[in-house]
Amino acid sequence: MNRRQWLTSGAAALSASASAQTQQSSSVQGLPLEQYQPKSMLHVPETHVPRARFPLIDFHTHITGAAGRDPDHIRISLQPADCLAVMDRKNIQTMVSVTGSYGNALKDAIAKLPAAHPGRFLVFTEPAWDKASDPGYPKLQPTLIEDAHKAGARGLKVLKTLGLYLRDSGTNKLVRIDDPRFDPMWDTVGALKMPVAIHVSDPEAFFLPIDRFNERWEELHAHPNWSFHGKDFPGDRELQEARRNVMRRHPNTQFVCLHVADSENLPYVSECLDAHPNMYVDIAARIGELGRQPRMSRKFFDKYQDRIVFGTDASAGAGTPQQTFCDALYEIYFRFLETEDEYFDYAPAPVPPQGRWRIYGIGLPEPILRKVYRDNAARLLGV
Ligand SMILES: [Zn+2]
Repeated sequence: MNRRQWLTSGAAALSASASAQTQQSSSVQGLPLEQYQPKSMLHVPETHVPRARFPLIDFHTHITGAAGRDPDHIRISLQPADCLAVMDRKNIQTMVSVTGSYGNALKDAIAKLPAAHPGRFLVFTEPAWDKASDPGYPKLQPTLIEDAHKAGARGLKVLKTLGLYLRDSGTNKLVRIDDPRFDPMWDTVGALKMPVAIHVSDPEAFFLPIDRFNERWEELHAHPNWSFHGKDFPGDRELQEARRNVMRRHPNTQFVCLHVADSENLPYVSECLDAHPNMYVDIAARIGELGRQPRMSRKFFDKYQDRIVFGTDASAGAGTPQQTFCDALYEIYFRFLETEDEYFDYAPAPVPPQGRWRIYGIGLPEPILRKVYRDNAARLLGV
């Protein structure tokens, strides 16, 4: 009997024996998924890496947040003193707070971070999304970028707002990532040597129905507003291709595609990196993806070792443990990058928050580690 025949003929017998077992252990029958916290029984090396082997730049953090209702002041999410304590313990030379807003709020962020602690913090500016539907926007945005640069902003952050949330005030249609109104902005940051940290799209499962086949069922139930299935949302690939159009049209602008651009599809990311010399990636909040495909990831780091930067997406709040700023968060990144440990958690949480899988370290050699931890980001940032 081959496997297929066994599966078919055995199905009835199997289901009978399964129901007998279920009756014997009724407590198993009712265990809700969210209460299931299986512990690994593997006896494998566990390396504690309390400190990065080399000083690093965290290219992607959210110490500051949206200006909110007060356009003159930035919202501080993580206190600089708390950051510095963790940075000193973990060997973090510099944290880049990417969500630095613009105008007076940006100036406030710069006063509180890089101006108060030179060398330890950098701040990026953001597009004035609230003005994107104004007829004068294509001319205004470059002026705002120039002001931000004068004030000390070192790059431009583009949230997934572009492509998934930003709508034209007249038509209510989603604004395309490659909309020509942004062309002057991309050119201006390129001329000022300000790298663009750009988040486009999200995990593929966020674009699929939230059903029993969705591998991020639990994550999407915890954050239902992260689902982009249905309505008028473009697909993941369409968003990615729109970003490629932008990179193609602005070869003198450096784009750091956040979250490994498309961390579940490294062949596609490789194709993009090969085609666009002005493209880089960060690894923020995606070691859960990279670490579950360790052999593919290791080759990816080998091939693109000059174009990968370290980032975590570190921010305040406990709702997303894979990016909550704390010592333990960094230790997992170090373990992933520096060791060959097997099957460990990608986030400090009782249940893996993005999906029920564990990860494997890729044990990068020192020359690659140095580039990923610091040198690639330093070159992009001009520090
Ligand atoms: Zn982020």
